[in-house]
This record gives sequence, structure tokens and C-alpha cells, in this order.
Amino acid sequence: MSTCLFCKIIKGEIPSSKIYEDDDIFVFNDINPAAPVHFLIIPKLHIATLTDVEDVNRDLLGNMLLLTPRLAEAQGCTNGFRTIVNTGHVGGQEVLHLHMHIIGGDERLPVMIHHG
Ligand code: 5GP
Ligand code: ZN
Repeated sequence: MSTCLFCKIIKGEIPSSKIYEDDDIFVFNDINPAAPVHFLIIPKLHIATLTDVEDVNRDLLGNMLLLTPRLAEAQGCTNGFRTIVNTGHVGGQEVLHLHMHIIGGDERLPVMIHHG
């Protein structure tokens, strides 16, 4: 999609700090990190949200997940990390190109889910 920010990053039309790339997946540092390690794993295929994922995307999503711990460790997450996929308005998704946030560092991250 020519107007999509992340499609432009994939094409190199907008600069990014790239961590990894293969035929189907692009990985780069978040411009506004929430923790010492904060990068985004995105498919090169423009899929707007997790809601738009279809059966044909099964391998792609599986590969993104399989890549996650390997890249997290290479970025210094030796003792765990958090993975977030914001979806749609309620999920607080701001960029409508599917992305997984990988967030970590040395410190335990704040609790995100409060019960009761
Ligand atoms: P969302 O809120 O959609 O889940 O997350 C979008 C993320 O993209 C945010 O964490 C934001 O900091 C990041 N982001 C937005 N614009 C850019 C950009 O131009 N370059 C990079 N590297 N990250 C961006
Ligand atoms: Zn896109």
C-alpha cells in the first residue's frame, strides 16, 4: 500500500534502524522505545490488522513468532521479553500495518493486566 508508513519503511522510502529482513519479514527498532529493547516485527505483505489475517497467512505468522525469541535474544533480552500486538481502535493500534512489538531489557516490565 503506497500510503502506508510501514510499507514505506520496508521499501526504504522512510529510513529505519533495521534489525533483520528476509523475503517475507522486516524487523526494525521502534522510533519511540518503551524500554531499552523495543523493536517491531512486520510482514512485508500489507496486512492491516490481526483481524485481517487469513488461512493463507498461517506460515507467515508462524515464522514471525518463531523468529521472535531468536531476535529478542540477539538484541539483549536474555531473561525474557514482552510481545504485544495492538489490534484496531480498542487495542490502541495506531499504524494500520500488522506489527508485533517486542519489548524488553534488564528490568522487569510493569504489570500490564490488572485483575479485579
Ligand atoms: P501501535 O500503536 O500501532 O501498536 O504501534 C505503532 C508503533 O510504531 C509505535 O510504537 C510507534 O512508536 C512506532 N512508529 C511510528 N512511526 C514510526 C516510524 O516512522 N519509524 C519507526 N521506526 N517506528 C514508528
Ligand atoms: Zn503497509
